[in-house]
Amino acid sequence: MTDPYSWLETKLTAIARAGWYRQPQYRPDLADFGSNDYLGLAHHRALQAAAIAAIQQYGTGATGSRLVTGHLPLHGELEQAIAHWQGTAGALVFGSGYLANVGVLGALLGPPDLVVADAYNHNSLQMGARLSGATVWVYPHGDWQAVAAYLAQHRRRYRRWALVTDSVFSMDGDLAPLRELLALTAEHEGMAIIDEAHGTGVFGDRGQGLVQHLGITAPLVHIGTLSKALGSFGGYVAGSTALISYLQNRAPTWIYTTGLDPAATAAARAALAILHQEPERGDRLWQNVALFRTLAQHHDLPTAPIQSPIVVVPLSSSAQALHTAAALAAQGYYAP
Ligand SMILES: *Cc1c(COP(=O)(O)O)cnc(C)c1O
Repeated sequence: MTDPYSWLETKLTAIARAGWYRQPQYRPDLADFGSNDYLGLAHHRALQAAAIAAIQQYGTGATGSRLVTGHLPLHGELEQAIAHWQGTAGALVFGSGYLANVGVLGALLGPPDLVVADAYNHNSLQMGARLSGATVWVYPHGDWQAVAAYLAQHRRRYRRWALVTDSVFSMDGDLAPLRELLALTAEHEGMAIIDEAHGTGVFGDRGQGLVQHLGITAPLVHIGTLSKALGSFGGYVAGSTALISYLQNRAPTWIYTTGLDPAATAAARAALAILHQEPERGDRLWQNVALFRTLAQHHDLPTAPIQSPIVVVPLSSSAQALHTAAALAAQGYYAP
């Protein structure tokens, strides 16, 4: 008899040999150069106090789907605060940013439709596009001219279409050409699904994201996360009343899952208040970006052009990256 699970060991060996093997680690002793806690809110006393108070009032779990027993007044308060902050009619919070992306794409698009997606989109957008059943056309990273050419030729074959992109790319830290892309969605009557996971709390005068920073007011499906700069956990969608109601009735990753837990909901609500009360946290982030840029130049550290707090230092291989991370850890820096 052969062990039906023995292939796992074989695969793991191959992963390790290719220099891709990783394991979770906990290194609070190191200076953080790797987390998404851009504003240092995950340890903010106001978030902690809000989370504790919410647990004491509502318990540790939401206990059900929002459409059944899992809806709390806290959810409504957070959603109103997000809508107010984003200047939209409504907002909806999801169990994570990943779930928001998968749910939105699945709800808004189907087999007769077209998804036009950047090659460097986050995995959750890629999976959402695939699960929607729509035709997915992936354009070379940032190449809006390619999008223009493709739409001119192919748009008419599909019922609906959506442009789908990160605003700030999670691995390369560069920015999507949103002005050009959103001019194309306007011209070709497409939906724009913009993932601001790394723009939230980072760009915009109160951390609303790159879209707001660029002064773009086009109607769009704005997705963000509560899990990064907002120091909590969860995802959100901001948009029109019709969009929000539709998602509440058609997004499976919102309907068939338990409501966001009280602690995360309350912490996120507190984080939004901090964005308004302590805007200096955003200023400090950009000062750190500028300092890093200056020091990198001073030390001839080769970096890709720095456009966001995500800085790319090109290395020759994944094995080299793991080796460099270990060397940095030995010197007190956490960049896993
Ligand atoms: C992190 C990330 C997500 C997922 O957000 P979570 O709240 O961590 O699930 C989605 N999109 C992008 C671009 C991200 O970087």
